[in-house]
Amino acid sequence: MSSLYKNTQAQIAQAADTMGLADDVRKIMNEPERVLEVNFHIHRDTGETEMLQGFRVQHSTLRGPAKGGIRFHPEVDMGEVKALAGWMTIKCAVVDIPYGGGKGGVIVDPHNYSEKEIEQIAREFTHSIGPIIGPRRDVPAPDVYTNAKIMDIIADEYHRLHANEKDWRAVVTGKSIANGGSLGRDSATAAGGVYVLQTYFEKIGDKLAGKTVAVQGFGNAGHHFARIAHELGAKVVAVTDSRGGVYSSDGFDPMAAYTCKAKKGAVGECLAAIATECADKKGHECRQITNAEVLTLDVDVLVLAALQDQITVDNENHIRAKTIVELANGPTTPTAHATLVKNGITVLPDILANAGGVTVSYYEWVQNIEGEKWKEEKVTKLLEKSQKEAFHSVHEVAEEFETDYRNASYILALRRIEHAFREKHLTDNVQEHGHDKH
Ligand code: NAD
Repeated sequence: MSSLYKNTQAQIAQAADTMGLADDVRKIMNEPERVLEVNFHIHRDTGETEMLQGFRVQHSTLRGPAKGGIRFHPEVDMGEVKALAGWMTIKCAVVDIPYGGGKGGVIVDPHNYSEKEIEQIAREFTHSIGPIIGPRRDVPAPDVYTNAKIMDIIADEYHRLHANEKDWRAVVTGKSIANGGSLGRDSATAAGGVYVLQTYFEKIGDKLAGKTVAVQGFGNAGHHFARIAHELGAKVVAVTDSRGGVYSSDGFDPMAAYTCKAKKGAVGECLAAIATECADKKGHECRQITNAEVLTLDVDVLVLAALQDQITVDNENHIRAKTIVELANGPTTPTAHATLVKNGITVLPDILANAGGVTVSYYEWVQNIEGEKWKEEKVTKLLEKSQKEAFHSVHEVAEEFETDYRNASYILALRRIEHAFREKHLTDNVQEHGHDKH
């Protein structure tokens, strides 16, 4: 079994133990409702036929349609997709949006395929999973190596298959603005993480301004987080991408690093762009850093915005940040998390901190179904309110059970899922009883 899926199950089991979750709900949460493995073919530009394998998992639809991204990645496997689908169920319940959890993936390295071939992959995969997706059944979104353009293709292909379906656009979220995407979706995950961090600081009588911040993963989520934190007065001192990065003890404008990364391809090449006077200033240190180092910097806030399994048994005791914000899914293993908590580090967990993306996906879905186009300010305001409320609810549960924010987030989610399960049971029983009469 994939270790990632074991992590999801372990986290659910821990929360279930803490809260004394009823056995039936525990069992239901332990396995996905539906898993689909598909094999489909495409024609390469060379004329060759190639078979590809993909997956779609619906972990739960108790609270609404399954919701979750589709990744194109050479190392995707069913275990990973099951784990990510389970986290989506929990995440949607933490922020109380009416969705269950799903995830999908195709085993492919998109770097080795032309644009035309990628379009074929997206269309054929949509055909293959077509029978189980739909605006009210299962709503995919972008994930690793998929983007708005691919979501537009999936929506278009779904429309071809369901020409009479009025709400076809709502079959996927994360579309381009021209094709029904929502304003504010791009920066939603990062903004949602910042709102949670700000609210946490407020709760402990502190503030984000002036705090030192290091960011691992300088892609969509990471660079927007760094930008917003910098705008709010935090001191961004380090950013890294897959090839390493830069550190400057004085702090720097992350957008200078981002502009440079766009030109040079790697943020590690951007030292001159962020710290021109580095060498001259007394006591000011600036240098290139590795990905291993960024995790162990002595900073107020460490943002994990790259991949899963970054804080593990190998480095758990070397983490010096006071607060961790998880924008990536599953960046801390369960045992490493226990060590961080023991070491007095506050972790704002993925299922709370990165939920801004799926929340704005939900706003996109509503806009598509209602035929509306919301202004960015409206999206941002609603997102801020939603993330802040979610943090306060998690904080209350953490106090009630004297537990950490991750366990509290799971407990909050499982309570909401249990409520949906009992309601469904009640409805099923009433319907059965009604049938008996006739
Ligand atoms: P992205 O592909 O835009 O960026 C990922 C970044 O991580 C890139 O800069 C890449 O170079 C870097 N990276 C890869 N391996 C690394 C490593 N070992 N060390 C340091 N950096 C590394 O992806 P994204 O959309 O920003 O997503 C980042 C993470 O956040 C993913 O785990 C994703 O699942 C999660 N997430 C994203 C969203 C969203 O809306 N974008 C929502 C929820 C969760």
